[in-house]
Amino acid sequence: MNVNKIKAYGTEAADAALEQLDINRREVTPKDVEIDILYCGVCHSDLHFARNDWGFSVYPVVPGHEIVGRVVTVGDKVKKHKPGDLVAVGCLVDSCRTCENCKNDLEQYCPAWVGTYGGHDKYLDSPTFGGYSERIVVDEHFVLQVPSNLDPAGVAPVLCAGITTWSPLRHWQVGKGSKVAVVGLGGLGHMAIKLADALGAEVTLFSRSPDKKKDATDLGADQVVISTDEGQMAGVQNSFDLIIDTVPYVHDINPYVSTLKTNGTLVLVGYLGPLDPMLHSVPMIMGRRKVAGSLIGGIAETQELLDFCGKHNITSDIEIINMQDINQAYERMLKSDVHYRFVIDMDSLKG
Ligand code: NAP
Ligand code: ZN
Ligand code: ZN
Repeated sequence: MNVNKIKAYGTEAADAALEQLDINRREVTPKDVEIDILYCGVCHSDLHFARNDWGFSVYPVVPGHEIVGRVVTVGDKVKKHKPGDLVAVGCLVDSCRTCENCKNDLEQYCPAWVGTYGGHDKYLDSPTFGGYSERIVVDEHFVLQVPSNLDPAGVAPVLCAGITTWSPLRHWQVGKGSKVAVVGLGGLGHMAIKLADALGAEVTLFSRSPDKKKDATDLGADQVVISTDEGQMAGVQNSFDLIIDTVPYVHDINPYVSTLKTNGTLVLVGYLGPLDPMLHSVPMIMGRRKVAGSLIGGIAETQELLDFCGKHNITSDIEIINMQDINQAYERMLKSDVHYRFVIDMDSLKG
């Protein structure tokens, strides 16, 4: 298969900084779309994967799964997109298309789903490489249309931070009258607040950071509870229908479970791994409360979200950075100093 060599940013090892490297992209096959990347959001998962926090990274790692760009070339069987279109790619670039999950628009739960980075590229027999790069080639099924009224840089985080919080909001049927809480005000958390608010819910933020209170209110939160303050936590027992927990590291979720109403659900989207301390069953049994998990969202659901954002004029609150600033951005992310998503201007890589 013919390939094109392009510039990217990535790392060869868990303890190495990200730096410029060359990668191969395949030439378009009949169903492929080639995209010139304009912007790419910086997700905390990028940092986890670059540093092998989850133990399954394959190197070199080129992160980036919040991609917005312009179509440059399409294969001769492509129907959905044409050169010049403003399009987006999220966390998925392939799946089997035949299993029950794929048939139900739940490609993210396909046993053979291929991540935008760190998956297996069947064409090149190499790891897939993400959006910290000049261009990407993706099957048209996994390419989304971006509403023309939205700022292309601000829309990039919708592709992961947005859909990861939208999918549980939709699955648990949040709407007018729902009481939703969000744990952690970072990339995912700020999108969760905006989206739950736009769906008509009453929104509470749980945060460790009192200095984020005003921002949370500006984003659409009706209430902020400082999670380290026992008095404030006691004041919100039995309150929420749904809690979306975006915290990236192990933490005690028990204090949140008892803030759910009867039949309420706490959905973990942030931390991947064993809970510590363990989950206590008493608050679950005493209120038929549930603890669940959720992974990004399917392609149809992601397009639904992009269209919803277009209609409600919703984008992410972003800080634009150059590709060369990525290592400092990761250090700031580790200090929860993100307001509220870094987005890379890919012109800085193209030079
Ligand atoms: P982020 O921008 O760094 O935000 C995380 C927020 O969590 C921080 O701003 C902070 O908020 C809070 N926090 C951080 N460390 C904490 C700690 N040790 N204890 C308690 N709270 C802490 O991260 P993100 O990009 O939103 O990603 C969040 C997590 O979701 C990451 O682990 C990422 O890998 C994961 N993720 C999952 C999916 C999925 O499909 N399930 C998709 C995308 C990302 P406060 O200052 O307000 O406390
Ligand atoms: Zn992500
Ligand atoms: Zn499948």
